[in-house]
Amino acid sequence: MTDAATVGHTRDAAAVVRVAVPSPLRRLFDYLPPADRPIASLVPGMRVRVPFGRVRVVGLVVEVGADAAVESARLRRIDAVLDPRPLLDERDLALLRWAAAYFRHPPGEVFLGCLPGPLREGRPAERPAPVRWGASGAGMVDASAALARAPRQAALLARLRAAGAGGLTAAALADEPGDWRRALAALEARGLAERVSDAVDGIAPCPPGLPDPPSPAPAVQPGPAQGEAIESVWAARDRFGAFLLEGVTGSGKTEVYLALIERIVAAGRQALVLIPEIGLTPQIVRRFRDRLGDAVVVLHSALPEQERLMSWLAARAGEAAVVVGTRSAVFVPLARPGLVVVDEEHDLSFKQQDGFRYSARDLAVVRARQHGVPVVLGSATPSFESLHNVASGRYARLVLPNRAAGALPPELEIVDLRGLALDAGVSDRVIDRVRACVAAGEQALLFVNRRGFAPVLLCHACGTPVDCPHCDAHMVWHRQADHLACHHCGTGRAVPRTCEQCGGGELRAVGLGTERIVDLLERRLPEVRVARVDRDSMRRRGALEAALDAVRDATVDVLVGTQMLAKGHHFPNVTLVGVLDADAGLFSADFRAPERMAQLLVQVAGRAGRGARPGTVLVQTHHPDHPLLRALLHGGYSHFAHAALAEREAAALPPYRAHALLRAEAPTPELAHAFLERARGLAAEHLPRVDLVGPLAAPMERRAGRYRAQLLLEAAARAHLHDGLAAWTQVLEGLPEARKARWSLDVDPQEMI
Ligand code: ADP
Ligand code: ZN
Repeated sequence: MTDAATVGHTRDAAAVVRVAVPSPLRRLFDYLPPADRPIASLVPGMRVRVPFGRVRVVGLVVEVGADAAVESARLRRIDAVLDPRPLLDERDLALLRWAAAYFRHPPGEVFLGCLPGPLREGRPAERPAPVRWGASGAGMVDASAALARAPRQAALLARLRAAGAGGLTAAALADEPGDWRRALAALEARGLAERVSDAVDGIAPCPPGLPDPPSPAPAVQPGPAQGEAIESVWAARDRFGAFLLEGVTGSGKTEVYLALIERIVAAGRQALVLIPEIGLTPQIVRRFRDRLGDAVVVLHSALPEQERLMSWLAARAGEAAVVVGTRSAVFVPLARPGLVVVDEEHDLSFKQQDGFRYSARDLAVVRARQHGVPVVLGSATPSFESLHNVASGRYARLVLPNRAAGALPPELEIVDLRGLALDAGVSDRVIDRVRACVAAGEQALLFVNRRGFAPVLLCHACGTPVDCPHCDAHMVWHRQADHLACHHCGTGRAVPRTCEQCGGGELRAVGLGTERIVDLLERRLPEVRVARVDRDSMRRRGALEAALDAVRDATVDVLVGTQMLAKGHHFPNVTLVGVLDADAGLFSADFRAPERMAQLLVQVAGRAGRGARPGTVLVQTHHPDHPLLRALLHGGYSHFAHAALAEREAAALPPYRAHALLRAEAPTPELAHAFLERARGLAAEHLPRVDLVGPLAAPMERRAGRYRAQLLLEAAARAHLHDGLAAWTQVLEGLPEARKARWSLDVDPQEMI
């Protein structure tokens, strides 16, 4: 970018401000300072408003005082500086710079994308007094009769009453079980609750940060392995160190995080905790709040923008001692960082799969190194990348070998489906075990990794499936909603009566979906109370929590669900888990499928028998002798992982090789391929130590009406890949073929689709 300035005729080396602006180009843009300000008053990390093309945009200053790359007559001036002080400090900027360079993503999208929406739009980085709610005059008198049938509202009202005239903010109410906003709206409608204005009767609002639960949950006494893990990390608190905390579900990993965080916070520093998906695991936030109080702020994309901004600013100001968030929280500025935790580090949700395709887990490690603090990656089923990093000495391994509080590990049992009569894909053995489990007053969990009734509708006469008109995919039959849906592009349509191909045939459902299992249970075990947990049934806010409550309150006997159920939930009375379609993960073109399958199996199994009773996991398969299943069943995850890693090494696959995937999609396959062919031709010059595979059609070539193809880049070492990547992508941006195809680069891709 500075080439022009170094060509010799230093005709005018105007000092410029280098700004990240929202643009798909992989570069920063140079500006002159505003007419009324010296350049020295600008600092990297401040937002500015700048002219860009024909519009005005909000940008972020990344560098100040560099020599202009073009003549100053061609440079435009910054219109306005939006922040009196930088929003991001040098360390925050360093992380973003690193991320933009490593993942080869346009810096404008990286630098601005990390900011909460209101800041991206140029609104001031100030915290307006948050809205508070309190009990109204009527709510202050006893309303228990009116709320006798609304226990949630009654509980909320009691809490508002206890808070007094100052009321409570949304942040303080975030640990309320269930959908507190609905309960609150109902209370407001009844005239029992109201918004409290800040200046009522001169009573100051409660200062933020006051713990509102009167007594935090008592800490448990760590067991020996937990104690060792805690001390190892604590001993490294003043320097960078990466720790892989490996322990089966229920072995007490969360207790290790909590104990460490308590110490870090007591030492006056902040902890950043990344978790996979907050919507799926409301329990974990509640647990952090119970233990650490209001010092915990939450950051995730489903939060209302204003609340997200408040959390972000509180973290940056150092007022929030603990930030619990999903992947984008890896970029939140912290005033006094002391510890980074990534829970369920193997989880795919840490890798963003579109746009800026970063890995929050890997960035968490980079960030900890920049801050000189420890990072703990925890999992019952560590990613192969992390296991490899342990093997090569980059990460230290900490192990929690047993379940805490003496709970026994679940027993795995294969159900060999070969030759068995099946009802909707389920064997009688599984049905009998569910019946017995429920009769014993215990609960069961049945796991199918597909929502809907059946993944395919086939014509019984001619065999033609009903396919999506825009994708190379079958449409899924959702019987309850009575329609067909494409799970790839969202297209929906009515269920045809007869085959549209041959005109005559009757359509038959093929394959398993959650709805079909519920239907089966209703037919075969009518006495059993069943609930379904998948993205369809959990769409309504608070629905997941209601379902989890129903399990805890034992008003449900059997849960049927997708991988949503595999995540972090604690069901003490569940003693039976059925994995109904284990074969789906055994035969896949994706070399990562076995790893994902094993992780899922072990995670689902981890839901069983966490209480006093041991659990059983039934695994239905047509391939009981599959080496992966054998390794997993007989030696556990770690045995399996060693075997599978050896295979990866022999096959020269990641983590033993570095991968990047150049993807292209276009209205025709030819346009997508033409771009990739051109890119391949240019790679010889820029990427001499990289092997190229393709261009090939993507595994699902047509999706949402566009044709997709990809070029795989492989190298023996990361450095070989990264050496020429910057120059190469810069050239790709200028290609005429690039204007006819949408393309993206995925560094360390996790999915090949
Ligand atoms: P993980 O995060 O590995 O799934 P948790 O930290 O959630 O495990 O612990 C599982 C259960 O065991 C929790 O109910 C937790 O309170 C309890 N537990 C963890 N450590 C201890 C301990 N040292 N003593 C008693 N109970 C513990
Ligand atoms: Zn589709």
